[in-house]
Parts: sequence; C-alpha cells; structure tokens
Amino acid sequence: NHEYTHYLDGRFNMYGDWNANISTPTLWWIEGLAEYVSYGYLRRHNTWAAGEASRQTYNLSTLFDTTQQHDQDRVYAWGYLAVYYLVENRPADVAKILGYYRTGSWQAARSYIKQNIGTRYDADFRRWLLT
Ligand SMILES: [Zn+2]
Repeated sequence: NHEYTHYLDGRFNMYGDWNANISTPTLWWIEGLAEYVSYGYLRRHNTWAAGEASRQTYNLSTLFDTTQQHDQDRVYAWGYLAVYYLVENRPADVAKILGYYRTGSWQAARSYIKQNIGTRYDADFRRWLLT
C-alpha cells in the first residue's frame, strides 16, 4: 500500500521526475502521504506514530524542512503525522499545495508552505498530537 501510494502520488500529484520532486523539501509529503494512505486504507493504528506524537518532538513548521538526511522517525512517523493533520484539519491548504506540486511549481509551493502557513498551525498541531 505504501509503495503503490508512491506510484499514484508520483503519477498524479508530483510533476516530473524524482529529482524535480525533491528539488525543494517535499519528503514530509511524499513519505507522509504513503504512510497515511497505507495505514488508513488498511484501517491500522500507527503505533509508531502514536508513540512519537506523545513526545511532541517536532513543530509542524519544522517538519516542512524534512529531507533524506533526517532519521526514519522524522521522515516516516512524523511525515505521517504532518499529512494526517493537514489532510483532516487543513484541506484547503493541502489543495493549494497540491495545485503547485501537480504543476511542478516547487518554489511557489515552498513559498506557500513557509510564508502562508509558516508557524501558524504549530500550536494547534501540538495540541492535536495529544488527541
Ligand atoms: Zn516510501
């Protein structure tokens, strides 16, 4: 499910090839969506992410900067939490970001994420992590 979600995301959301896709930090979305859809489709509880959430390690705004240099907890468990939060609580922002990703407007997406969203949801994300 995780890998098939990558295929669908790569085919229908992320414009162009892998190098284009990660020309800005998009890993939170790529791995987070694959985890979110995988666990959601299977109706499985993500105990890994739940454990991480209880520790409140990262702000949402920090997760937007996740790259392949970060550890698996941050890439997968925290990517899952970021996508879960945004899809279910901030769908308009997800639609906006995907609009940019689907046209390969990487810098516009990055600007939207860093400037329009920025730290605006950090407090709400932190609260949501404990729910
Ligand atoms: Zn993956």
